Amino acid sequence: MAEQDRAAPYRIEGETGAWEVVIGLEVHAQVISKSKLFSGAATTFGAEPNTQVSLVDAAMPGMLPVINRECVDQAVRTGLALEAKVNEVSVFDRKNYFYADLPQGYQISQYQQPIVGEGVVHLDLPDGSVKEVGIERLHLEQDAGKSLHDQHPTKSYIDLNRSGVALMEIVSKPDLRSPEETAAYIKKLRSILRYIGTCDGNMQEGSMRCDVNVSVRKPGDGYGTRCEIKNVNSIRFVQQAIEYEARRQIEILEAGGSIDQETRLFDANRGETRSMRSKEEAHDYRYFPDPDLLPLKLDPARIAELKAALPELPDVKKARFMRDYGLSLYDASSLIEERATADWYEAVVTGGGGKRDPKIAANWTISELFGALNKAGLDLADSPVSAEALGGLIDLIGDGTISGRIAKDVFAEMFATGKDAAAIVEEKGLRQVSDTGEIEAIVDAVLAENQDKVAEYRSGKDKLFGFFVGQTMKRSGGKANPGMVNDLLKAKLAG
Ligand code: ADP
Ligand code: MG
Repeated sequence: MAEQDRAAPYRIEGETGAWEVVIGLEVHAQVISKSKLFSGAATTFGAEPNTQVSLVDAAMPGMLPVINRECVDQAVRTGLALEAKVNEVSVFDRKNYFYADLPQGYQISQYQQPIVGEGVVHLDLPDGSVKEVGIERLHLEQDAGKSLHDQHPTKSYIDLNRSGVALMEIVSKPDLRSPEETAAYIKKLRSILRYIGTCDGNMQEGSMRCDVNVSVRKPGDGYGTRCEIKNVNSIRFVQQAIEYEARRQIEILEAGGSIDQETRLFDANRGETRSMRSKEEAHDYRYFPDPDLLPLKLDPARIAELKAALPELPDVKKARFMRDYGLSLYDASSLIEERATADWYEAVVTGGGGKRDPKIAANWTISELFGALNKAGLDLADSPVSAEALGGLIDLIGDGTISGRIAKDVFAEMFATGKDAAAIVEEKGLRQVSDTGEIEAIVDAVLAENQDKVAEYRSGKDKLFGFFVGQTMKRSGGKANPGMVNDLLKAKLAG
């Protein structure tokens, strides 16, 4: 795409002119696996506190970690889906710090030798261009437990259910340049993770959390000093946090100050970020290889096997939908964001002997079905209209049994009752009238009743044609075949 076609870059106006915002994300994605990274305890969300804790997770003396093969496979799948280099040898390190929810006194993580190296995520920007966001690395680490401060007036409780659950930390390069791009990045990453089934992407339940690094600079300058905003748990909050933080930094710089590299918190109620602590350095954590774990060695054959078993990924699916079904970028993008939606749409298109028009199927899926689901607050999985049933409705339009106009009423009835289209059409007598004689009789009646208007039309008032069409359709109860109505009216009015 030509440079001049691109949307203007995102800038914030300060007193000294325009500023550019630079953003890099560290996303913690909870791995989908039945048990934890180094123990056999379960990972089900929302269980009674401390019911999913093994002796390893509680850091009892003498317990040893044992790596969970499924978690490793999940990290490899994710690396492959991010077009990243999967490292055949990686190392688990201890990241030492004290916190009440961390009984070991250290987190087992990966530092200098992560399981996955550099990769890329492609973003479709609203102006139609594609932006590549670099992935710096992906490493495996343990989650900590959770402090519960609201259970007792003077005490805090600890729930260790989450202690030891596998996380993938996915670190982007500082390639993002606006809150919108950052939102698009998170959505795309989530879409990919959900396609391959390595993380459910549920930010509300905390299975995907973002640390947002923000700095500002004058366009053309080198990178400025960044602040890191910890654990932001919704896309909207990420966007708000970036805007607030960028303005805060600009004010400081324009007043002649400098940015302290800090770790900050986003306060969603006030819409502002607050300092939490000055930025810790890697050496503060005294990283060293965990002596309880051997370096992790991957079999290249296993990597190849996982690669071969990956499903079609969102970008590839989108390109295929545009190419094979003639869909617009917009339609293809909204159909492929969730794998289940894409599958649903394809079931409509390929059903019924493959004769259904893919664009009509896309319109019905996006405008009517998604619209109705949204309004009813339902997920696609709970849709009262199945893919087969929507296909049936499209077939009735296609073979002329009903008009597109009547089809909307039929769809509303299908959505409300779960019945199929053919049954509703029969029950309510909604079959389109395509019998020439029958339509001719209605047209004649309409013209006879409106002789004054017929005269006006014949003396040149062309606009009245729509009036005759409307009257004829109305008299037929919306059932007359619109094409035939048009043809007959033209012939009769000309005569
Ligand atoms: P650390 O481990 O200390 O947090 P990293 O080098 O791993 O540091 O970087 C963390 C994140 O900060 C990465 O996502 C990176 O893209 C981002 N980042 C680095 N420099 C900047 C910058 N100047 N402005 C904004 N983000 C940055
Ligand atoms: Mg960091």
